[in-house]
Amino acid sequence: MQERLVVVGASLAGMRAVQSARKAGYAGPITLVGGEAHLPYDRPPLSKEYLDDAEPTHPGFPAGEDLAGELDVDVRLGTWATSLDPGRSVIGLTGESGDDELGYHAMVISTGAAARTLPGTDQLAGVHCLRTLDDAVAIRAALDAGARTVVVGAGFIGSEVASGARKRGLPATVLEALPVPLVRSVGEEMGHACAELHRSNGTDLRCGVKVTGLESTDNKVTGVSLDDGSTVPADLVVVGIGVAPCTAWLGGSGVTLHERDGGIMCDETLSTGVPGVYAAGDVTHFPNPLFDGEMMRLEHWTNANEQGQLAARNAINPAEARPAATVPYFWSDWYGHRIQFVGIPKADEIRPVSRELGEEKFLALYRRGDRIVGCISIDRQSQIMKYRRMIMQRKSWAEALEFAGVG
Ligand SMILES: Cc1cc2nc3c(=O)[nH]c(=O)nc-3n(C[C@H](O)[C@H](O)[C@H](O)COP(=O)(O)OP(=O)(O)OC[C@H]3O[C@@H](n4cnc5c(N)ncnc54)[C@H](O)[C@@H]3O)c2cc1C
Repeated sequence: MQERLVVVGASLAGMRAVQSARKAGYAGPITLVGGEAHLPYDRPPLSKEYLDDAEPTHPGFPAGEDLAGELDVDVRLGTWATSLDPGRSVIGLTGESGDDELGYHAMVISTGAAARTLPGTDQLAGVHCLRTLDDAVAIRAALDAGARTVVVGAGFIGSEVASGARKRGLPATVLEALPVPLVRSVGEEMGHACAELHRSNGTDLRCGVKVTGLESTDNKVTGVSLDDGSTVPADLVVVGIGVAPCTAWLGGSGVTLHERDGGIMCDETLSTGVPGVYAAGDVTHFPNPLFDGEMMRLEHWTNANEQGQLAARNAINPAEARPAATVPYFWSDWYGHRIQFVGIPKADEIRPVSRELGEEKFLALYRRGDRIVGCISIDRQSQIMKYRRMIMQRKSWAEALEFAGVG
């Protein structure tokens, strides 16, 4: 078997994997395989600063420039992994790299997820998802042209696009099939609070509506049709209806995939069970020891950042593999406000513990059994991390309430 750490997927988790392998002292060959033509770049700015009307800054990670040099990584951009054969310890490749196979002794799969699209709309001008830098360039150009923006799906990224459109003074509509947005991410009550941010900033949020199709002229979108027979006029439609893990290339490899979303099933050390093969980031389901081994697949920056590092260290030194124990954390920026969430949203009770009269800032705690398991805040950045630590330390609900001053 050839000695080589192969990392498939050249984004946040993949970049952290190669950095951490070197930091851990691994001096053997490393190859980083990335389907996109770009060096690793940061995705959160794509739905935030990058959409502003100021000159955009390239969201590349500074460390991306060091990969081939200081870190001595063989970087293959524009190159897709097409198969994994654990019997021979090789992956199949296609694209710009020139090789059609690559051997490994250790591997980190960090292929992330791709945005789901509305069937039959791929070729229609003015319709975009927002996952890649190329998507963001197209959306920005439409906003520059003054597009009337319709977002399908009231998730975090779509909501940020609506916020960006409103910041430019453009009309924005968000269409959501569920009666309340973000219920699975933050629970119903807090979903209402987020909905209020849209409404108070002039975005036309319509919940409980079903998109039946898109209207177009000369292959350019002109509107979104709804099941009540109405049409919302649009020059730009951003489809934010979730993502699918990028695992089609693993068919027949022996790597176990989640029965519904196709993500990679791992143990708590992020091992796939196939010798030498680990996974990290958005593509990964793992049992989180901090939440009694509950299986999770997180689509959060911080998780990809942490797991990329851990998966590489475990892959090169499996005898000392450590578990991925984390309190999930994500943030989202809407209309000048920062929404933050730590922990998990499935709770027996959600208790708002502070709300300034007449202001949008607030903080609410999530209880499961007698434990604090989550916390959401708007514009309370210094406080929420204290609750993240409490969740990590498995503090009780009573302790959390006492800390919040409402016990
Ligand atoms: C617009 C946007 C805004 C976001 N904002 C926030 C935020 O505010 N806060 C937050 O916590 N999180 C945010 N996120 C989520 C965060 O960016 C992701 O969790 C993170 O990018 C996941 O990193 P990853 O490396 O696991 O996967 P990805 O970033 O999805 O990267 C996977 C890479 O693998 C490549 N790939 C896929 N298949 C193959 C293959 N077969 N061969 C080779 N390469 C392959 C893909 O092309 C891609 O480049 C945002 C995401 C987006 C898209």
